[in-house]
Amino acid sequence: MQYYSLNNQSPIVSFSQATIQGQAPDKGLYFPSAIPQLPAGFIDSLKTLSKEEIGFTVMKPYVGGEIPDAILQQIVAETINFDFPLVQVDEQISTLELFHGPTLAFKDVGARFMSRCLGYFSRNNNAKVTVLVATSGDTGGAVANGFLGVEGVEVVILYPSGKVSPVQEMQLTRLGQNIHALEINGTFDDCQAMVKNAFVDDEFTSKVNLTSANSINVARWLPQQLYYFYAYQQWQQQEAPVVCVPSGNFGNICAGILAHVSGLPVKQFIAACNANDVVPSYLKTGVYQSKDAIATISNAMDVGNPSNFVRIMQLFSNSYPQLLEKLTAYSISDAITSLTIREVYKEFNYMLDPHGAVAYYALHNYLQSHESSKGFFLETAHPVKFPDVVEKETGIKLAIPEQVQYLIQQPKQSILMEAKYEDLKEWLINKG
Ligand SMILES: *Cc1c(COP(=O)(O)O)cnc(C)c1O
Repeated sequence: MQYYSLNNQSPIVSFSQATIQGQAPDKGLYFPSAIPQLPAGFIDSLKTLSKEEIGFTVMKPYVGGEIPDAILQQIVAETINFDFPLVQVDEQISTLELFHGPTLAFKDVGARFMSRCLGYFSRNNNAKVTVLVATSGDTGGAVANGFLGVEGVEVVILYPSGKVSPVQEMQLTRLGQNIHALEINGTFDDCQAMVKNAFVDDEFTSKVNLTSANSINVARWLPQQLYYFYAYQQWQQQEAPVVCVPSGNFGNICAGILAHVSGLPVKQFIAACNANDVVPSYLKTGVYQSKDAIATISNAMDVGNPSNFVRIMQLFSNSYPQLLEKLTAYSISDAITSLTIREVYKEFNYMLDPHGAVAYYALHNYLQSHESSKGFFLETAHPVKFPDVVEKETGIKLAIPEQVQYLIQQPKQSILMEAKYEDLKEWLINKG
């Protein structure tokens, strides 16, 4: 498998090169040169296969022989060594719970797969690799956890000060070792812009061996396909599901669409957004207009210029009519998100986090005009990561789960920084 840059100005690369580089030199996102089609009979036999077998079969063509089968099998097994249950919430709607991993958010899968691939590719490499990543909350925790203690890899995480929840901040700032947290006086978009700047600064990248762990990295993006296969494995209906994904940078839903293009049955995709409505307004008006990010209670989706949307367009052959046919998008306000958490808890005794609530409501909305359909949404984070909203709406005090208990005793370690690229560059160079 080869990967090309969607800006078409950079050389074609292999999976390992795309993983190590993150972004192409022309600032484009890497994209597979052909979408592999699933083996005949694979979908019909899903129910008889193990998670590990599904994961290996789906991922193997993308790795293109650069990791031996036995090692890839082990990487896949470690990546998905927790549960992905599909749970029914009401008559028409189920939820795929993606928060059973070590940092209680769906990003664990991408981060675990990428850290292990990078570890394999740099096994004979003496130069230290610096993973540079911007986070709106959950990416950083998953990446920090995935890379903690990995030899030869330093992780530098930029997060917007005051805009992540207490559990998220603990996961970023209390691990120590090879994990460094930069607390940026700005928004997630500012953090992301600083990271993007570093990657295109040739003078700088000649000194520091940089790689990205954001969802633009193919090794983080591609394994997210597996959620959709695990959901379908548990799907009990004859008809294909409507699939609703709470979306910010659009990496997760893009992986779902990729799975569909390679053969997974999906009736319709719903992108559920908060007030950051670039994609919903594009689908409404045909005009793509990026905006400044707005802070919301579903903060992992506070993205004003979703990076992965170009990949989605590519999957639809850059055809707006094709996109409209398969993708519906909604923008859901904070007020409705809160109300949804309250109502769904009261009526169905199911506790949503704000991101899941955005998705539940969007799917509910869609299904009201598609009464014979059924679907599921992805519950992308554990409610405890957003205790303020969830406790207020449900009246339930949430206990800190076991996975994060140990962080409470550790001291916070973060470096305060203005949202200026020059400051980041200076710090990274001096860090050595
Ligand atoms: C990152 C994240 C999202 C958004 O996922 P994208 O792939 O950026 O669209 C949604 N929910 C949670 C909890 C997240 O951490």
